[in-house]
Amino acid sequence: MTDTNSNILIVDDQPDNIRTLAAILSGQGYKVRKAVSGEMALETVRSQPPDLILLDIRMPQMNGYEVCSALKVAVETHEIPVIFLSALDEVADKAKAFDVGGADYITKPFQAEEVLLRVRHQLTIRQQQQQLIEQNHQLQREMQERQRSEAALRQAGEALRESEERFRSAFDYASTGMLLIGLDLHWLKVNCALCDMLGYSESELLTTSSSDLIYPDDIDQHQNCLQQLLGNETQRCQTELRYCCKLGRIIWVFLSISLVRDTQGKPLYYVAQVQDITERRAIDQIKNEFISIVSHELRTPLTAIRGSLGLLATGIYDSKPEKARRMLEIALTDSERLVRLVNDILDLERLDSGKVALEKKVCDTAELMQQAVQTVQAIADQAPITLRLVPVSAQIWAAPDAIIQTLTNLLSNALKFSPPNSTITVTAQPHCDHILFQVNDQGRGIPADKLETIFGRFQQVDASDSRHKGGTGLGLAICRSIVQQHGGQLWAESTLGEGSTFYFTLPVPQTS
Ligand code: ADP
Repeated sequence: MTDTNSNILIVDDQPDNIRTLAAILSGQGYKVRKAVSGEMALETVRSQPPDLILLDIRMPQMNGYEVCSALKVAVETHEIPVIFLSALDEVADKAKAFDVGGADYITKPFQAEEVLLRVRHQLTIRQQQQQLIEQNHQLQREMQERQRSEAALRQAGEALRESEERFRSAFDYASTGMLLIGLDLHWLKVNCALCDMLGYSESELLTTSSSDLIYPDDIDQHQNCLQQLLGNETQRCQTELRYCCKLGRIIWVFLSISLVRDTQGKPLYYVAQVQDITERRAIDQIKNEFISIVSHELRTPLTAIRGSLGLLATGIYDSKPEKARRMLEIALTDSERLVRLVNDILDLERLDSGKVALEKKVCDTAELMQQAVQTVQAIADQAPITLRLVPVSAQIWAAPDAIIQTLTNLLSNALKFSPPNSTITVTAQPHCDHILFQVNDQGRGIPADKLETIFGRFQQVDASDSRHKGGTGLGLAICRSIVQQHGGQLWAESTLGEGSTFYFTLPVPQTS
């Protein structure tokens, strides 16, 4: 806004005054409007506000003070500067003019220069005021904008922190091992599960690299995995390898690795999930060994059956009935052995895999012991061996058939490995929360180093025991599985040449 574009309203009831003033102002390029009364002035100001008002004080009906007061109370007009014009030159008049909101005061008769000077002065003030107001508004807008962006920034920061926190806790508290590996193979981040798995502290692991911890024979396999990821051949690479843990312990892990890239696809680091599969590998190995032993054990009697029947089929023994009967006996004995083997293997598998839930109920120890003794009594009489039963009546929580099978098995073993005319004693002792069963014999005894191994599958003191004594090598493994599923324990004590005692415990039902 410049001076000359400004719009000035002259209010005076004297047309001459108006004309003179208008001439002065128009001469300077100002746009001049006129009003000959206070009422007219208020009306024109409301419809089109001027930049400045030159206002005569003494006017009929509404004087200048009243006009000015009216302008100053209305929001739309109160900022328009008013310069009073008057022949009155009293201090009181001037004071009143300023009191009602006047900006300046010109005494008539006036000098053109003075009028222009004061007009210009007021317009400049008004212009500066408007600039200030505009700047103030601008400043407020900027402040609001800034507050908004600060709030948005705070929110984004919080969201980021929250998502980082979520990622961190997901990583830290994962139940499997989690690992970030740098492109140089150094470990960048590990979680608690991985530290526990490897037995190293976090700080120890962060100063190490994959090549230090991977079992030397498996390093190439790991390297291949990373190459596949770097070459974009796969999104995720999975492998099984060994880690060397603290104190030389070696574990098998299942490793699932992916490569994290930036937005341009540049590789940043690897993220890996590590699962300890040592136990699973050990079980697999036991299973494989078991299968190979089983197939061997089953093949042996089958080969004998096939051999003897094959010979009979050729007819070479047609005229030798004694030989023929011998062949048939071999076939029969081995078929029975085969049946026992298959039954025992199935029993053990069902027990160990939990496929058969043992149906437990309250039973009496004395009854179980008597039934087991009855089962083997005929064999004992044949030997002859004395079976001494010291029955103890107590209540136990057990699957009766399985416990009778266990006792029968222990008794059969005792009979197999005892000399004639010896005694086998079966007893049971009640303890506070369990019953302790004992099967004691006066047989050949078991060497100390075999006392535990005989409970394994197909384990014997002597490799020929099973064949000679008609066992399968699975009896004690089945017994231990049954006892353990009852929450009890089975073990043996022995003195070579003097005899052995097999012990097992069973819990008694808790009376409330
Ligand atoms: P088996 O069918 O061969 O008897 P078990 O699992 O019942 O299979 O027994 C494993 C081995 O433990 C036997 O072959 C034998 O060598 C030894 N054994 C078991 N009971 C006795 C015992 N009372 N006295 C001596 N040795 C025993």
